Amino acid sequence: MRLFKKKEEVLDPYTIERCNNCNKTTKRKFREGDYVFKVTEKCTSCGNGQMMVDKIFGEVVK
Ligand SMILES: [Zn+2]
Repeated sequence: MRLFKKKEEVLDPYTIERCNNCNKTTKRKFREGDYVFKVTEKCTSCGNGQMMVDKIFGEVVK
């Protein structure tokens, strides 16, 4: 999936997930259906927390 901001700028969407227990953040490629506050998988770092989508942003493809 690609997002178009301006005419010649192609943005690659990324998703930041944050654990609600240990606050660990991970960055990964945006997946279809992602939205802010969406609960995703269990945290692999602390094993207790739940990962939630914190932010979705686009990076300019060079
Ligand atoms: Zn955690």
